[in-house]
Amino acid sequence: MVVELVCVGTEILLGNIVNTNAAYLAEQCAGLGLSCYYQSVVGDNAERLKGTLATALGRADIVILSGGLGPTTDDLTKETAAAVMEMPLVMDEHSLERIEEFFRTRHLEMTDNNKKQALVPQGAIVLDNANGTAPGLILEKGGKRIILLPGPPNELCPMFENSVRPYLEKLEPGIIYSKTVKICGMGESKVATLVQDLIDSQTNPTVAPYAKMGEVHLRVTARAQDEKEAKQLVKPMVKELKNRFGADIYTTEENVTLERAVVDLLLANELTVSTIESCTGGMLAARLINIPGVSEVFKSGYITYSNKAKRKVVGVKKSSLHKYGAVSEQVAREMATGSAMVTKADVTVSVTGIAGPDGGSTEKPVGLVYIGCCVKGKTTVREYHFTGSRAKIRESSVSAALTLMRRCILEYYSETTFRS
Ligand code: ATP
Repeated sequence: MVVELVCVGTEILLGNIVNTNAAYLAEQCAGLGLSCYYQSVVGDNAERLKGTLATALGRADIVILSGGLGPTTDDLTKETAAAVMEMPLVMDEHSLERIEEFFRTRHLEMTDNNKKQALVPQGAIVLDNANGTAPGLILEKGGKRIILLPGPPNELCPMFENSVRPYLEKLEPGIIYSKTVKICGMGESKVATLVQDLIDSQTNPTVAPYAKMGEVHLRVTARAQDEKEAKQLVKPMVKELKNRFGADIYTTEENVTLERAVVDLLLANELTVSTIESCTGGMLAARLINIPGVSEVFKSGYITYSNKAKRKVVGVKKSSLHKYGAVSEQVAREMATGSAMVTKADVTVSVTGIAGPDGGSTEKPVGLVYIGCCVKGKTTVREYHFTGSRAKIRESSVSAALTLMRRCILEYYSETTFRS
């Protein structure tokens, strides 16, 4: 089934608000297995909205509109949709009662134009709005469907989840099931190249790569009559991906993040950890500490930004700083081994780099980062070249540090081999 999205609001056209509803709705529809080929944004103008709606109805089975259901005169989505579907507006007593109740419980005065929100196209399915006054609406005629949703995301998202999703699920029999294979330490183009043949020949299930900060996710999606059948379709593809990417896959669980996987690895091997950061300024420690249960493994996190702090806190040699500079393999190594001595943690991770925008040179450009990881006395240091803004370089460094930690622990405890 083909769905099309139309977001209504001059504010979106002017760039005053970001169209998060479109992103949300598109993702939800894709998850339901609906095909979406077009999205549009149109201002609060009846004629242009009418034209947009007519075009969308000409090429889609379902058109989902967001916004313009409010009580003011520039809110004309419902009126326009009703006119296009030739369904006259009638008062819906149930919605009127809910709107009256909304104002009563908040001790607010209800104005006449709020009543307008209880007018619905005759025969429409009315969707209760748990967080606002405008009800959502589903208009069905001649095999076409228009779904009207309120603009505020805190009203639209729960309404979609509670009412629209079950409605759409009934329209398209069968279910959509997907599993995400999460890969770290490998760039998107390399991952894409390694699965290109699978993508080229895909039917059911499909494989889609998504690039994340320092990670690539491969989503395997199948459509089937029931969950059991869908899982059977997904299973061999996930197995094939496991064969291809091996230890570079850190999880196939939806709710497991890279930092969760690292903390789980530390817990499983009863390893304590300390971090020692320069350019990331505590971001690595913060990502680890975000994980519930980390207190069992996390010992300490240092931010040694200045050379003096690097020397004083973890004993980086003055001569190393002088000879190699603060951003160097040697200093990253001494930061990691020094913090292992000071904190007695089993695993220590150091980050030192040039986040920019200033401070780079031809020899040591912005984005040059060294990350060290010491696991029970065995130290590995890697050199990275990141690009982008200061924020992006720092975030990339944190992801790389988590990836290196995971890799060093796995290599220490097993014969794990990595492709990257
Ligand atoms: P209301 O009853 O609040 O007037 P409405 O259905 O008429 O709701 P709009 O007036 O179009 O919705 O938008 C209300 C607010 O909802 C906007 O000011 C904006 O904050 C948010 N909003 C609207 N459309 C979008 C969108 N596409 N993405 C994100 N936020 C949106």
